[in-house]
Amino acid sequence: MPLWVAKAVVLAATVALIAIRAPHGQRSRAVKTARSYKGRLETVLLIGAWIGFILPLIWIASPLLSRADYPLHPLPFALGCVLLVLGLWCLQRSHSDLGTNWSITLEVRENHQLIVHGIYARIRHPMYLALWLHSLGQALVLPNWIAGPAYLVSFGLLYLLRVGAEERMLLERFGKQYEDYKARTKRLLPGLW
Ligand code: SAH
Repeated sequence: MPLWVAKAVVLAATVALIAIRAPHGQRSRAVKTARSYKGRLETVLLIGAWIGFILPLIWIASPLLSRADYPLHPLPFALGCVLLVLGLWCLQRSHSDLGTNWSITLEVRENHQLIVHGIYARIRHPMYLALWLHSLGQALVLPNWIAGPAYLVSFGLLYLLRVGAEERMLLERFGKQYEDYKARTKRLLPGLW
């Protein structure tokens, strides 16, 4: 398959992700932060995730990474497209349910509400599930050993090192309400894990 197909899909999925996130991000940033839990590790992880997010765009726009290209096969490409679509759907659902309680980092906003409805009724981290699906899909559709898995690795690291701290933060803020919520939900996969 020609490379331009992969480039078009990666670009379209990235633009869609930004388009979904932008209006919610703008509304959330208008609400003051009551307390930030952003430490040095979180800053490093966020910078890593940005690099992982940008590398695919560098691959699209320049020949800098082309030495790490490999042939694009239809099967992983098709599977990747499915994961990208599922990821974008999940991102849209979680952003609209989380509303202005969203932050790019670990923060509690003024009048922060614990969201337990919609997609959050089934799992505690649907937005992270969306980003897992997106980054996995991208690794499959983007035939380059560096740019392909860049976001999967950088986001994966952010997730693994953040999710426990995020749950401790919400437990501290919401106490029993979060404890009960945690007891009846899973992290990423409904009923499983
Ligand atoms: N982990 C969630 C949200 C990611 S955005 C998900 O994957 O869907 C990160 C911010 O969301 C955190 O700073 C935290 O303040 C907030 N948050 C996470 N879960 C929440 C919930 N159930 N209700 C309200 N805010 C939540």
